[in-house]
Amino acid sequence: MSDNLKLADLLLPHIDKTPDYYEALYPERSLKEGAKVTRVAPSPTGYLHIGTLFTSLVNRIAATSSEGIFFTRIEDTDKKREVEGGIENIIDGLNRFGITIDEGFVSGKEEKGIYGPYQQSRRAEIYQTYVKDLIRKGFAYPCFCTAEELEATRAEQEKANIRTGYHGEWAACRSLTFDEIKSKIDAGIPFVIRLKSPGNEENKVVYEDLIKGKIEMPENDEDFVLLKSDGIPTYHFAHAIDDHLMHTTHVMRGDEWISSVPKHLQLFRILGFKVPKFAHVSPIMKLDDGAKRKISKRKDPEAAVHFFIEEGFDAIAVVEYLMTIAASDFEDFRRANPDKPYTEFKFNLKKMSVSGALFDENKLLDVSKNIISRMSGETVSEKITAWAKEFDTEFYRLLIKDQSYTKAIFSIDRDCAKPRKDIAKWKEAKDYVSYFFDELFAPDYTLPDNLTPADACEFLKAYVKVYNESDDKQQWFERIKELCPALGFASETKAYKAAPASYKGHAGDLSTVLRIAVTGRRNTPDLCSIMKVLGKDKCVERIEEAIKHIL
Ligand code: GLU
Repeated sequence: MSDNLKLADLLLPHIDKTPDYYEALYPERSLKEGAKVTRVAPSPTGYLHIGTLFTSLVNRIAATSSEGIFFTRIEDTDKKREVEGGIENIIDGLNRFGITIDEGFVSGKEEKGIYGPYQQSRRAEIYQTYVKDLIRKGFAYPCFCTAEELEATRAEQEKANIRTGYHGEWAACRSLTFDEIKSKIDAGIPFVIRLKSPGNEENKVVYEDLIKGKIEMPENDEDFVLLKSDGIPTYHFAHAIDDHLMHTTHVMRGDEWISSVPKHLQLFRILGFKVPKFAHVSPIMKLDDGAKRKISKRKDPEAAVHFFIEEGFDAIAVVEYLMTIAASDFEDFRRANPDKPYTEFKFNLKKMSVSGALFDENKLLDVSKNIISRMSGETVSEKITAWAKEFDTEFYRLLIKDQSYTKAIFSIDRDCAKPRKDIAKWKEAKDYVSYFFDELFAPDYTLPDNLTPADACEFLKAYVKVYNESDDKQQWFERIKELCPALGFASETKAYKAAPASYKGHAGDLSTVLRIAVTGRRNTPDLCSIMKVLGKDKCVERIEEAIKHIL
């Protein structure tokens, strides 16, 4: 038996399969020509990050646009960084934002598909099988260097102004003989398995990134680690094995991985795998004191997607906003197709920002207002109630006291040709509709400068006498107009404008007085509708209360 074969058995004696076994177990997918198989591969190290949501969306839409498959894979090879509930946080978060998952972890607890397990910590045997094969072929070897030895090498390289890393003559364990290795193993010295890189720094590798374009980098010559001492792979190795066996066609991931592409290309080649297409997604940026920087987990609350949920942004608004960042032609699509789901947008990676798009909260608010304005009153009231249940118990109790009242409130100026673009996030709703609830009502009775308290009260007293709850919008305004002449106000704005000195004001001013009396504010949706929802008794009570305060 050759030394390599003996070495493979010595290092991984428990591995009895060969790669052929897995190649047969995970056959090619039968998808239509051009279908993209994409994935997101989060590490369960905390909450769902806005960047992960963004990358997932891009992967999802690329798969959808090509009738392909989007799957999830949990990269939990670093157990130290893992947090309790991490998988649920991320996968359930994606679900919450409507990112449908075809395969892999479809929820925090459920896995689907025949290419699993979709969790790296459960794939150790697969990785080890491929590593064993590389050892047999002379492409991998054990390394016994301690952290201190590696550090000493590094210091020496730095001192001599040599590129740091485990390469060439610095790769101390590369030339150990079988007998030397065997005696270390027998002595129980822990080891990692490294790639025996055939690369040369002087050579260039070129690849076409689907977002960034043509990229040229030096070939990898580093004997990087494939398997750590606990038998668990590094990211690089797991990526090559998993994306090969899961038949990923497009690896679309954060652009922090660009510098590792030479390693990955080398691995794919040595392993005899077809190289997937790569697309490196730029991070979402933020302006900080005029300078662009990556959204940061530590500094920015909006890095955690949960922030948007707590703020009461509707999931679809966040997704639609991210689509505007993802594709420069998405807004044209939206304008031309206001009612189509975003999933029908034909996504083209070439339209993605190369340098990283700026996060713009005002734009998000704007997108959100538009979307909410097109929702039915029923949907809005359901969504606000669901949000309040989770984040504002006081408001929730008020909303569920009388659900038809709640629905009527949120139906005002909605479901019509020109709906109001008023609410951008559910958190704003409480203040926005506070005057519908005595518990929240906090009126500001300040009158506009051109109106005196005496005139305002005289009008309110007269109005109560003629107020008819069943008036439609037109009749409602007619009533106010009819009161004008006796009070010295112009019924028509035109008449007022023609001779302002002859009047104290016009009918519009008096409707403002009524608005202030009933709602305690100057700006609201349609007042006639508000008064109908509040009901006559409540309106009269409010008007009488206002008279006391204004006088
Ligand atoms: N676990 C890696 C990360 O979270 C995945 C990168 C990839 O998509 O391949 O960055």
